[in-house]
Amino acid sequence: MKYAAIQNYINGQFISSSSDRMLDVISPVDGSHLSTVPLSNNQDLDAAVQAAKVAFPIWSRTPIKERVQVFFRYKALLEKNLKELALLVQEENGKTYDEAVAEIEKGAELSEFACSLPQLIPGEVLEVSRGVECRTEHVPLGVVASIVPFNFPSMVPNWTIPNAIALGNCMIIKPSEKVPLSVGRLADLLQEAGLPAGVFNIVHGDGDVVNAICDHPGIEAVSFVGSTKIAKLVYQRATSTFKRCLALGGAKNHLIVLPDAIPSMTAQNITASMAGCAGQRCMAASAMVAVGPVDHIIEKLCEEAQKVVPGKNLGAVINRASKERIERYITEAESQGAKVLVDGRSPKVEGKENGTYVGPTVIDYVRPDMAIAQEEIFGPVISIMRTNTVDEALAIENANPYGNAASVFTQNGGMARYVMDKASAGMVGVNVGVPVPREPFSFGGWNESRFGVGDITGKSSIEFWTKLKKSTTKWNPEAGINWMS
Ligand code: NAD
Repeated sequence: MKYAAIQNYINGQFISSSSDRMLDVISPVDGSHLSTVPLSNNQDLDAAVQAAKVAFPIWSRTPIKERVQVFFRYKALLEKNLKELALLVQEENGKTYDEAVAEIEKGAELSEFACSLPQLIPGEVLEVSRGVECRTEHVPLGVVASIVPFNFPSMVPNWTIPNAIALGNCMIIKPSEKVPLSVGRLADLLQEAGLPAGVFNIVHGDGDVVNAICDHPGIEAVSFVGSTKIAKLVYQRATSTFKRCLALGGAKNHLIVLPDAIPSMTAQNITASMAGCAGQRCMAASAMVAVGPVDHIIEKLCEEAQKVVPGKNLGAVINRASKERIERYITEAESQGAKVLVDGRSPKVEGKENGTYVGPTVIDYVRPDMAIAQEEIFGPVISIMRTNTVDEALAIENANPYGNAASVFTQNGGMARYVMDKASAGMVGVNVGVPVPREPFSFGGWNESRFGVGDITGKSSIEFWTKLKKSTTKWNPEAGINWMS
């Protein structure tokens, strides 16, 4: 085992879980045994909630301009430790080093946004009647929870940590049991940045501790990022105990390609979108909807896909079960009549025979009724569906239950605008393979890609992590005037 057994982080200290349930942490890169992660119980969670509750009165009353100083320092520490943090992400998640670096850099950008919160949250004041003033202010909620997935072990935690904490809340995070190491390093850096004990806590585990989070009366709000199936369970359970909940789910992102699209740029963007992070991004292109004669673009796409080499510029998928599941989808589509143009099944990766790799895969003549066209694959696979008109392409995009991202590739501005208007997705792009809105814009999908109101990052997150206090004060001394009795 390369690292010591993982511990929870409660009240500024790493401590062992009182549970004896454990899981092995295996690197997808080469199958090596990295560590063990505890599957914490209610007692562990309760200890974290109590620590956060104790920390809350002082932290929430610390002026926000002082609170964000922690995140100026945290950002600098992410940058200073970039290489080591990226190597850890690479090791536990399987993505390439460059992708891991980009993930840490994005975390620093998220922290930078949190540093700007004092500029964004001043409330409003107005003399609403003579001598009578109304004012609003954003007040932190209390103890909040963040439940995160495996695909971005460092960045997705940083979607919630800086904003929720800078806004005055105390947090309990539940990392993915598949990638539990990176969040521990973030705890070290937050401590080094001066965050007081108890403000940030980590409780490791699986679905049991997530259920305990949803049920715990001391937690005010739950944010969740993961698959749609679990997002729905978490949203239902957390709101059934009257908590605020924002649950982001899975995705099936469509790229609509028109014949006038620039071939090489389009092919490069589609390849980067479908194969980046081994296709394990909720913004990854999963379906290409070809409108009319675009064979020349598909040809270029196959050329580009073949430049993506597992173990070099393509990382591993998270585990053996995931690899087998992805390859099953390809085989099933092929047996139903789809044509595999670039086949990534069972690639040989020298020296990493125990790693869980799937090569880039391009499948043509996929029909909208096939499972590969409908379900989230979460691997470096693009399914091409052929249509004759933009409206047919939009009908396919609109019929999918998810709604994270959609993009169109064209040189025709009117067509681009038309697709942007009609696509049923929270994040749309024109000639962009991965239309992630960069800070300060907020991130969040629609439909079955998000349950709850608002987005998880950017300005929208201010509404989620705070409540508004409205005060009315009267300073006119005259008696008998009924402006505000
Ligand atoms: P997942 O849903 O399996 O797990 C997410 C979290 O839920 C983990 O912390 C896990 O421990 C917990 N969990 C697992 N089973 C549970 C259960 N039965 N009850 C309660 N909690 C449970 O997701 P994953 O496989 O870790 O991540 C991949 C998924 O996340 C993909 O579907 C991807 O699209 C999605 N994702 C979405 C976004 C977005 O912004 N919409 C971002 C990143 C990832």
